[in-house]
Amino acid sequence: MTERNAPHSDEAEVSLFGPGYGECAVVHAGGGDWIVLDSFGPPRERPVALQYLDALGLDPARSVRLIVATHWHDDHMKGLGELVSRCPEAHFCCASALGSREFMSVAAALARTGLPDQGIREIHAVMTHLDQTDAQPVWAMASRRIHRSSGCEVWSLSPHDEAHTSFLKSLAPRPGTVPGRGMHSLTPNQLSVALLVRFGGGASCLFGADLERRGWTAVLRDDTKPRCESSVFKVPHHGSANAHLEGVWDELLEPAPIAILAPWRRGRGALPKEGDVARILACTPSAYATTDATSGATPRDRWVKKRLGNIKAHITPESGAHGMIRLRRAMDGESSWRVDLFGSACHLRDFAA
Ligand SMILES: [Zn+2]
Repeated sequence: MTERNAPHSDEAEVSLFGPGYGECAVVHAGGGDWIVLDSFGPPRERPVALQYLDALGLDPARSVRLIVATHWHDDHMKGLGELVSRCPEAHFCCASALGSREFMSVAAALARTGLPDQGIREIHAVMTHLDQTDAQPVWAMASRRIHRSSGCEVWSLSPHDEAHTSFLKSLAPRPGTVPGRGMHSLTPNQLSVALLVRFGGGASCLFGADLERRGWTAVLRDDTKPRCESSVFKVPHHGSANAHLEGVWDELLEPAPIAILAPWRRGRGALPKEGDVARILACTPSAYATTDATSGATPRDRWVKKRLGNIKAHITPESGAHGMIRLRRAMDGESSWRVDLFGSACHLRDFAA
């Protein structure tokens, strides 16, 4: 087990957490400033980002400067309200459509019916909290610098205007329908906030959120975005083929970058699939997953389960909930990333799709 200590002041860190359903990235931007992208937490526990910063001996209330909600799917939102309220120094950033009157009224209507998914509830709670505390959210849109500190700057690369407009149109009330009824058929992935984090010393990281191909096509076409090739890629949409575009690897990334992803499983659906793993490994040999199977169970768990046969037993994944990929490098322009894997995190070639 690698040591769990806080990075040095001039050391960049990108840590990705994911137990098999849930994704959160925690970034040290230098100088003791931290950024959190999305949120999840095990049942009845604090959000993983708060747990991690606590474990490093850091006070989230003072050290977190920016929290980004990439989109409102449940696997990215759990505990977001608690995270925002525990980090009063942090700016909160999300797609501007989520602050629109149209979205808020639909979300409020859903909250009243008790129907909404957890993700919508969390976003609604956060926006209400910000409103009550007079805090102004930072709106993410294409090619906008949303944060700058001494050690880094952060750009949102999406959503583009077209995705914004078509989303608002889809929220328009239709006669005779229940408010928000259409919400579940919408795909928040089209509003995902892809981010570019540029660290001092020249390294940068591209966070793909769950942005799908159509969104990436717009990013590639946009000639106002900052020009840079990233050495780290948080693979979009849990490695799904519907978020893959060759141009992203060719134009936005260094050759053979470090690719990191959080697997996803819900019911029978699971990502990445075998073909996704092969495709990503063909793009780069340095690819890692936060957990070694879409089930969240470790190989040991699967071995035990097989041998238990028909005996009914509940197996708690040994460490799946704490699977974490950690990348660190000095912001001196010369160093390279050091990769450390914790819990059930693994090289992607060892991932059991
Ligand atoms: Zn997701």
